[in-house]
Amino acid sequence: KRRNSDEKEFLQATREIFDSLRPVFAQHPEYISNGVLERLTEPDRIITFRVAWEDDQGKVHVNRGYRVQFNSDLGPYKGGIRFHPSVNTSIMKFLAFEQIFKNALTGQPIGAGKGGSDFDPKGKSEREVMRFVQSFITELSKYIGPDMDVPAGDIGVGKREIGYMFGQYNRLKGGYEAGVFTGKDPEHGGSLGRKEATGYGTVYFVEEMLKDKGLSFSGSTVVVSGSGNVSTYAIDKAIQLGAKVIACSDSSGYIYDEKGIDLKTIKYLKEENNFRIRDYVKVHPHAEFNDDCTKIWTIPCDIALPCATQNEIDEKSARILVQNSVKAIGEGANMPCTMEAINRFVANDVLFAPAKAANAGGVAVSAMEMSQNSMRLSWTTEEVDEKLLQIMKDIYSSCLYAADTYGKPGNLIVGANVAGFLKVADAMVAHGIR
Ligand code: NDP
Repeated sequence: KRRNSDEKEFLQATREIFDSLRPVFAQHPEYISNGVLERLTEPDRIITFRVAWEDDQGKVHVNRGYRVQFNSDLGPYKGGIRFHPSVNTSIMKFLAFEQIFKNALTGQPIGAGKGGSDFDPKGKSEREVMRFVQSFITELSKYIGPDMDVPAGDIGVGKREIGYMFGQYNRLKGGYEAGVFTGKDPEHGGSLGRKEATGYGTVYFVEEMLKDKGLSFSGSTVVVSGSGNVSTYAIDKAIQLGAKVIACSDSSGYIYDEKGIDLKTIKYLKEENNFRIRDYVKVHPHAEFNDDCTKIWTIPCDIALPCATQNEIDEKSARILVQNSVKAIGEGANMPCTMEAINRFVANDVLFAPAKAANAGGVAVSAMEMSQNSMRLSWTTEEVDEKLLQIMKDIYSSCLYAADTYGKPGNLIVGANVAGFLKVADAMVAHGIR
């Protein structure tokens, strides 16, 4: 704590893990004597660098680039790149730390990392984004590679940005290394089913959790925050399973459509164009727009899927959701609920699917992209989706099993933390103290 005292998101993420692991240490003192927890909370390395780039008017700008290479006991460092003005060391470290457990839960051979920059892609031209990315990768390329560290997308980084990263990396290396990035366009080395994977996976996981209680997405009303990659495909799958999704948002507000959100319009506005969510009401005048995105959680619903960003549901929003009889929460984003919000849900028996487990589908399909790149072949959308569904079911079972084994039956937060920890901790012990 002393060493990381000003890193509030990182401390929040580590505190949640510590609370879950107490019963594990009581049964397995070898993890203490091997210093596993202390070693696991200090990244292998943190790389920061200057990213200088020129805008369309010839003005020079400087941003900071990051890559946190947290743990490689299970495989190459793996985790997304985020471009957002809020990016700092604490946010990078919390995301990379969460990735350790998430990646372990997928059962795939991948370690954990995260990277990004405080660059704001909003309002930048395509050429400006390209120049920024080329400068960013010129430095980052020294530290990544198909067997070393394999970045992917995250907030502000989609297939366009990954395409520019991939192009610049190969230019610098003088060849073609397909497996150095995931989230590539399926037309150019990516995996089918990757863009859908995190949102679909979240809904698959939540459906398993609901099923155990005799519930389902079918016939439920759902609120999803955000309208980016994760949100869009969470909405898509929830609708496919028979739910009515009545609200979604972006950072400038939310829309409420009592008839059920029209996914085609969301994709048109947010995936195919750079419009704002408020433009939905121009196409669907019966819908309502509210310019306070935090108020989305005041809308009564059966299932809430926070899929936008960290700490978007605080205690106050959690209280309102509980008052409105929410039955289940599925974390599509990373750490979207504060600790106080989670406590409120748990105390009121609201079913809770934690991010580490629920949103692991994206990185699981990224690992499949790495396999396909190595084998030089492509699986069909159906093959990828079938494997994704099975992985999400397996993650759900291993969380339940771990929670049960360590005295917290049905608590998926404890289950995800313990199951992920045991997998990586055993590898750390096997690899010696380093
Ligand atoms: P995107 O950039 O595609 O989308 C983010 C969305 O959230 C945008 O619609 C953005 O709006 C909105 N948003 C940002 N801040 C807020 C806010 N405070 N309130 C409401 N909406 C907000 O990112 P992703 O969908 O890729 O990522 C979303 C979350 O999921 C992140 O936590 C990410 O780490 C996590 N995640 C993503 C994975 C992936 O495969 N992409 C994998 C696992 C986790 P605006 O356009 O206004 O900025």
